[in-house]
Amino acid sequence: MTKETTIIAQITPPGIGAVSVIRISGKLAFDILYKLINYKKELKHKQVFYTTIKDNDNVIDDVIILPFFSPNSYTGEDVIEISTHGNPLIVKKIIELAIKHGAKPAENGEFTQRAFLNGKLNLLEAEAIADIINSSNEIALNWARKQKSTFYTNKINELKEKITNAISLVELELDFSEEDLEFINRNQLTTLLKNVINTIDSYIKSFEYGSIIKNGYNIAIIGKPNVGKSSLLNAILKDDRAIVTNIPGTTRDIIKEQINLKGYLVNFIDTAGIRETDDLIEDIGVKKSFDILHKSDVVIYLNDISTGIDTSLLNKIKTYNNNVILVGNKCDLYNSDKNLYDITISAKNNINIDILLDIIYNNINNKNIYTENDLVITNIRHKLLLEEAKNYLLSSINTIELGFTGELISVDIRNAIDKLSEIIGVITTDDILNNIFSRFCIGK
Ligand code: GDP
Repeated sequence: MTKETTIIAQITPPGIGAVSVIRISGKLAFDILYKLINYKKELKHKQVFYTTIKDNDNVIDDVIILPFFSPNSYTGEDVIEISTHGNPLIVKKIIELAIKHGAKPAENGEFTQRAFLNGKLNLLEAEAIADIINSSNEIALNWARKQKSTFYTNKINELKEKITNAISLVELELDFSEEDLEFINRNQLTTLLKNVINTIDSYIKSFEYGSIIKNGYNIAIIGKPNVGKSSLLNAILKDDRAIVTNIPGTTRDIIKEQINLKGYLVNFIDTAGIRETDDLIEDIGVKKSFDILHKSDVVIYLNDISTGIDTSLLNKIKTYNNNVILVGNKCDLYNSDKNLYDITISAKNNINIDILLDIIYNNINNKNIYTENDLVITNIRHKLLLEEAKNYLLSSINTIELGFTGELISVDIRNAIDKLSEIIGVITTDDILNNIFSRFCIGK
């Protein structure tokens, strides 16, 4: 599907740098280049040359040009990449000039969208590119790379093939309906569908870990005023971003900080600011704090060893989130019964913080039951489509068990196949595409 327009955008980050790169993609890419450089040059695929961009006789910049001939480019269209000196003014002037010569500013993700529409990438691969760009930690980056490889697509295609084979036999029966033939035994069909559902279930389940890979592991730090929550956060972050104070209730806002813990993204949420009083039990009833506890993967319940654990508060916390690490703070001042806490620390004096981080790391890594050969779903869109596919398959099994005709069975199974196709992008709508590609940045 060739687009009529020729689009342009800077594909390097905005701002001052050694070099900036502008990409032009579309039918007019080469013509626009000739107008930018004021002469017609014989271009060779992937062969760079040095030239000058001019607005009439005014030199804008000396640049390096890299041409790509359709279909052998990122977008599948004719593409020109222009490396300029990394000054936003120069970039702006060149883009404006190209627009004057017929280019249109690219929308978010439009280059990648064109690559998709031209069959250079499927949707999974396009989404993986967004993830590769946005990954803030090594583990997320590895999985994004894996999604970009054929591995992910193949796994989904395997599922599709299994059910397509089965459904074609059922549909073949429909062609011979007068003869009352059964090309696939109903028990066999049900077993096959159940196997596919099991695989889908395992993919859906992998999202729990996948979401941690992509969005991070969420840890709420909760405890009474002055137990040392901000100090703990500071010790973990090793700087002074959270304000430490001995006046209770001064941290007004929820503080969210991220660290990279041996490759995992970890989000710490200090709930100090969500209460004004000592009465945390009451306060936990507040929707905001409930939400935080509920949505966190684990809760650090921090206590001052000298005052001990408030068990009714602990129980209350556990009703919202049962995964609690019980931490005793200020071990530099007080001794504690070793069995009382999961760990005792001193936030202020940096004692045992590394061990607490190890506990957290193990907590995350215990969820990593996956090997190189397993599929881990990191994208909520895929998870939702898998759930829909599963529901159609469950419904088809129900239809089989009720003894309905092949036609009815086939409708559900076809719908399940469509949902799997949507993951890869064989079936899409403009809405879906816009939704996905609008999340890219301009220039991608
Ligand atoms: P929050 O209200 O729970 O955020 O508590 P803060 O982090 O503001 O700490 C309250 C007070 O306890 C401050 O004066 C800290 O310096 C002090 N504090 C925090 N952790 C420790 C610790 O491990 N040992 C000692 N001795 N004091 C600490």
